[in-house]
Amino acid sequence: MQWETVIGLEIHVQLATQSKIFSGASTAYGAAPNTQACNVDLGMPGVLPVLNQEAVRMAVKFGVAIGAQVAPRSVFARKNYFYPDLPKGYQISQMELPIVGTGALTIELENGESKVVGITRAHLEEDAGKSLHEDFHGMTGIDLNRAGTPLLEIVSEPDMRSAAEAVAYAKKIHALVRYIEICDGNMAEGSFRCDANVSVRPMGQKELGTRAELKNLNSFRFLEKAINLEVERQIDIIESGGRVVQETRLYDADRHETRSMRSKEEANDYRYFPDPDLLPVELDDAFIEEIKQTLPELPDEKRQRFESDYALSLQDAAVLTASRELADYYEAVVAAAQSDPKIAANWVLGELAAALNRDAVDISNSPVTAKLLAGLLQRIADQTISGKIAKQVFEAMWQGEGDADAVIEAKGLKQITDSSAIEKMVDEVVSNNPKQAEQYRSGKEKLFGFFVGQVMKQTRGKANPQQVNELLKKRLAQD
Ligand code: ADP
Ligand code: MG
Repeated sequence: MQWETVIGLEIHVQLATQSKIFSGASTAYGAAPNTQACNVDLGMPGVLPVLNQEAVRMAVKFGVAIGAQVAPRSVFARKNYFYPDLPKGYQISQMELPIVGTGALTIELENGESKVVGITRAHLEEDAGKSLHEDFHGMTGIDLNRAGTPLLEIVSEPDMRSAAEAVAYAKKIHALVRYIEICDGNMAEGSFRCDANVSVRPMGQKELGTRAELKNLNSFRFLEKAINLEVERQIDIIESGGRVVQETRLYDADRHETRSMRSKEEANDYRYFPDPDLLPVELDDAFIEEIKQTLPELPDEKRQRFESDYALSLQDAAVLTASRELADYYEAVVAAAQSDPKIAANWVLGELAAALNRDAVDISNSPVTAKLLAGLLQRIADQTISGKIAKQVFEAMWQGEGDADAVIEAKGLKQITDSSAIEKMVDEVVSNNPKQAEQYRSGKEKLFGFFVGQVMKQTRGKANPQQVNELLKKRLAQD
């Protein structure tokens, strides 16, 4: 039996406002527990929530960025449940009338094709506090600093058909919310969290299978792993005659398994009703239009421009525009070096990306700045150094040894292009290896590489490779 995977994602994006969604308390991360929770966040009697206009603006910004309908009227509702980190006994969210209606997002797949994923809605809500289990013996601590932090929950249609597609979608949303500066995107701090709804069905069947919801996946790697595990689990159940039950599951990265958290029967009845403390949010066209005007160039537009202006492949353009910082860096390199955009792309996506990744450095803190990399590319273009030596120079620049010219000078890496000097070395190498020369001439052409290697060894890689090749060929043709 062939099975088809079906996935819909709910993504919680923490909005980058200074203060909370219904109070003036700070949203800064990392403060001592309970120092950033005011009476409103604590749900004290007699307090009233006041809506943060900046949170509304950010939600609208997202709506217009994905071409969704922004609701002229949306309503906050109380979602009632009991939990120690929820002082009021309800979360203020949106239910029937969310601020952002249906929209869509295009994702690029590995096979080079693209696909449109429907977005059902996006609504505003407040975050809850945190329960702390670790630092207390036999007790649980409650930190309410996070209570009242503004969230935008983005709900997708069940349009994804593999873990890879789900990851591509999540990454695209992640890039977008950072581009439009409504979220810092920090997954480790919980600013961007995914819930994955996963089901399987026999290939060709129309109706959706029963789904399980995987909660709070806070890295793309976990998202992918958790989905793949869950798909396997569901197929195993069905193929051995069982049936999948609708439930919420947790992914345990250490044990590499998903575990049931609660079943549908135990699910809360939230008794949603409109929050009487908050007025409906009414937005006029002028307000929405004004926000539309503040949108920067979006990832898709930028990618298309990179493809056409710099003649890059879709793949390269997509990676380079995945974050605004990376795209800006690349454009700065191209502008400063006036170098071949394709070569610049190779360096940014190759050597630079590898170094950033190896040392876990963010592009904004790269020791090799765009200007430094541009300087290096110039020295390759004017043949001061070869591409191979350039990697050595790059590494020295990465270690803080100065710009390309300084490193080339200090290490004596200047390319040897003096043909009489190269000719002399070629002559020496050939004379000193008469046996190999003989074999080469009698047809063992593989040996050419040996001679190139010998010359390069003598010059510590500095001889112009093209000249070495030409002069060697010439010399070996004589006897
Ligand atoms: P709930 O109200 O329980 O959160 P929703 O209808 O809002 O359920 O759906 C939540 C998410 O689950 C959406 O992203 C949706 O696309 C997805 N989803 C719904 N049904 C399925 C299914 N059978 N398989 C996979 N995903 C699903
Ligand atoms: Mg939901």
